[in-house]
Amino acid sequence: MKTALITGITGQDGSYLADFLLKRGYFVVGLKRRTSSICTSRIDHIFNNINFKIEYFNLNDPGSFWRLLLKYRPDEVYNLAAQSHVRVSFETPEETVQSVALGTLRMLDAIRTVDPTGNQIRFYQASSSEMFGDNPNYPFNEESRLMPASPYACAKVFSHNLVRNYRESYGIHASSGILFNHESPRRGETFVTRKITMAAVKIKMGLQDKLYLGNLEAKRDWGFAGDYVKAMWLMLQQDTPDDYVISTGKAYSVQEFLECVFKYAGLDIEKYVDTDSRLFRPQEVPYLLGDSSKAKKQLGWEPKVGFEELAKMMYDSDWNLMCKQVN
Ligand code: NAP
Ligand code: GDP
Repeated sequence: MKTALITGITGQDGSYLADFLLKRGYFVVGLKRRTSSICTSRIDHIFNNINFKIEYFNLNDPGSFWRLLLKYRPDEVYNLAAQSHVRVSFETPEETVQSVALGTLRMLDAIRTVDPTGNQIRFYQASSSEMFGDNPNYPFNEESRLMPASPYACAKVFSHNLVRNYRESYGIHASSGILFNHESPRRGETFVTRKITMAAVKIKMGLQDKLYLGNLEAKRDWGFAGDYVKAMWLMLQQDTPDDYVISTGKAYSVQEFLECVFKYAGLDIEKYVDTDSRLFRPQEVPYLLGDSSKAKKQLGWEPKVGFEELAKMMYDSDWNLMCKQVN
């Protein structure tokens, strides 16, 4: 039985990846940080699985990772933990850089020390399309120029480069997935897609009057998180580590996502939606569109869920969630 360590287990991707690996017969160790209130709702359904275990860890506490590495001697490590919100990274840049950049450095350095031959432990790094930032030459592939436009993206570029550097310097099996935005019913509520689906449900139920948004013009290549975790796993099953863009190849604006959800809900955008200048960012990333031909060719990976299906899936899930809370 293979053992996988997942950092960021309480997050969107950590929970989908745990579901995926448990189904494939892995022993999964989920690493979570201590929080003052319980934040395990995304993994409550696997809590009693005998092949699943939770351990405390913090990206900013290198010893916590060392101890777990020695305790479990995992076959695969998936580094999904991060301060992952772009706008928040402008407010807490140091925490973002500590967790995203130094957190990755600490893990890579521990792995190359514990497994100097690079034969035992395989490492996955959650890189991001935000790294392309201001680059106007989309669609982006693995060779596109990185022009990060936020503290979050700058930190992700650091860890992305570091993965390649550790791979080339020490021969460790480390791969980066350059994932474009991916959403789901488990997406954090302050990301724009979930903010919209949740608000639409609450407005429909008479529990919210208005939805305030920032830049509606920005375009994103939105996929489904459940599809994307499979790509992470596929990368670690390859003989040779590498970097891969994971995307749908279609971009839509925030306005289009809003229209899709409000139409489905039967709501009038004019009546319920306003913009708020405070929700605009110091620097915006206007257009993210990916080209994942390499992943398709080498991993045999393709996205399954499309834009409209994703929006409806998220709205329906939020509807059911709110029904349970209200009743
Ligand atoms: P998420 O839902 O925000 O989850 C982030 C996870 O990291 C949470 O479990 C969080 O714990 C944990 N975490 C944050 N700081 C930590 C620290 N100092 N020590 C230990 N754990 C810490 O993010 P996601 O959407 O699942 O994304 C997963 C990864 O992919 C992230 O690295 C993100 O930057 C990257 N990524 C995401 C997307 C996307 O569209 N979703 C696209 C590209 C790349 P708490 O629950 O305690 O907060
Ligand atoms: P990001 O691409 O990782 O920053 O994912 P987000 O979901 O946070 O933002 C996607 C796009 O939506 C960005 O261009 C934001 O500027 C835009 N946006 C517009 N209004 C909002 C809002 O109220 N919240 C968030 N999070 N983003 C918004």
